[in-house]
Amino acid sequence: MKKITIAIDGFSSCGKSTMAKALAQRLQYSYIDTGAMYRAVTLYAIRHGMISAGLPLLDKIEGCVEQLDISFRYNEVLHQSEVYLNGENVENEIRGMEVSSLVSKVAAIKKVRATMVVLQRKLGKNKAVVMDGRDIGTSVFPNAELKLFMTADPEVRARRRMDEYSSKGQFYPIEEVKESLRQRDHDDMTRAESPLVKADDAIVLDNSELSREQQLEFVLKLIADLHFADKSELRGQK
Ligand code: C5P
Repeated sequence: MKKITIAIDGFSSCGKSTMAKALAQRLQYSYIDTGAMYRAVTLYAIRHGMISAGLPLLDKIEGCVEQLDISFRYNEVLHQSEVYLNGENVENEIRGMEVSSLVSKVAAIKKVRATMVVLQRKLGKNKAVVMDGRDIGTSVFPNAELKLFMTADPEVRARRRMDEYSSKGQFYPIEEVKESLRQRDHDDMTRAESPLVKADDAIVLDNSELSREQQLEFVLKLIADLHFADKSELRGQK
């Protein structure tokens, strides 16, 4: 089957990465979690005193972002791709509340985005990739063969995020989690640089009431239809 690029965008905690991982595994594609890249930059900024009064220090972050070494390595034991910052595995550290609360402010910085997008395009240049984020279908790979825009009920999303935190031994009140998600969505949708918006040709997937299997089935059917349409087109050209 022809290798394609699959772009998955949407709000926070909509199950994008769960879907992207399952798809990548099923298709034997690589999976790139672009949110993890912005989280790694944010972690670096926190660790190096580049946050003041809850806001990123623009000049400092802009001055170092191009030198950061952000990469992914596959963990054979956990069967997952993990993000490395300057050679250190930071997969767990980037998922805490502190990074989550600051990441959308760091991700709004023009030079941070430009630097990450160059890296993302490099990682996806050979296709056979599932990439999830906020601007993959609109900006990183506007020609992706399949674009999904995932969404879910805010209550469902907050519960999912709470489960994710608690599985890592972190416990927060639901109201705090909800507010953090609301604020992040707001920041992501209203920023000047590549705001979160559905691409015109993206297919909406609301998974509030769908199991993981149902979602995967839905997307695999879309991919099968794409291949079928492709073949019919080729037959038509003969
Ligand atoms: O996907 P995740 O929730 O880990 O993303 C964290 C944050 O990174 C998002 O809230 C958004 O601010 C930023 N992001 C982005 N563009 C992407 C992926 C993530 O701005 N392609």
